[in-house]
Amino acid sequence: MIANGNTLHLAACHDDECAGVEAPVAGAERVVDQARIARAVREILFAVGEDPDRDGLLDTPKRVAKAYTEMFRGLSQDASTHLARTFEQRSDELITVTNINFFSVCEHHLLPFHGQAHVAYVPKHGRVVGLSKLARTVEVFAQRPQLQERLTDQIADALVEHLDAAAVVVMVEGEHMCMKMRGVRSHDANMTTFARRGRYRDDEQSGMQAVQLVRDLAHRDRR
Ligand code: ZN
Repeated sequence: MIANGNTLHLAACHDDECAGVEAPVAGAERVVDQARIARAVREILFAVGEDPDRDGLLDTPKRVAKAYTEMFRGLSQDASTHLARTFEQRSDELITVTNINFFSVCEHHLLPFHGQAHVAYVPKHGRVVGLSKLARTVEVFAQRPQLQERLTDQIADALVEHLDAAAVVVMVEGEHMCMKMRGVRSHDANMTTFARRGRYRDDEQSGMQAVQLVRDLAHRDRR
C-alpha cells in the first residue's frame, strides 16, 4: 500500500501503541470516533458468544478502532488534491498504468477485498499526472466502505473531472474475502469490473480495443 505520511493518523498496530483509546482523531475534514468503534466491537464480541474481558481480547476493541481509522481514512480525503498536480506533456497519446495494488473493504459485509487497478487514459491539452498521484487516487477511493463497481466508476470519473481526460478505461480486479470466507466459499472467485468514459464510451470499437489493451498489459506485467 502506498504510504500516506501527511494524513495517516496511526501506523500499524504495535502492542505498545494500542495501550489506550484516543479521543476522536481529527482528520483533514472529519473526525473518527475511536471510542465509539471500540464500544461497538466489544458488543460484537459479546454477541458472537465471546468474552471480551479475557486476556487475548482485552485490547481488541481498541486495536480494531485504530485499524478502522486507518482502513477508512479515504473518507476524509479528496482525490482532487492528488490529481490537481498535473504536468504538461506535448503529446495527447494514450497513457496506461497497470497493477496499482489496492486494499478496500466491502460495504455489504465489512470484509476486505483487494487486488489491482489498471488505468488507461488519453490526456487533453497535454495534462498528465504522475504515477504516484494516480496510485493515491485509487487509494483515496479504496479506503472507505466500498463496492468494486463503484470504486471502478469513481476512479474513472475522477480522471474526467479533475484531469479533463478525453478518454478513460479503468479495469479493477478484486478478490473478495466475503466470497472466499463465507457463503458459498468460492475460493477462486475473482471479480473484474470496467468503466469507460469519454471517447472510449462513445466509440464502442476504440473503447473495446482500449479494454483489450489494458487487459493484455495487466496480465503481461504479472507474468
Ligand atoms: Zn461483501
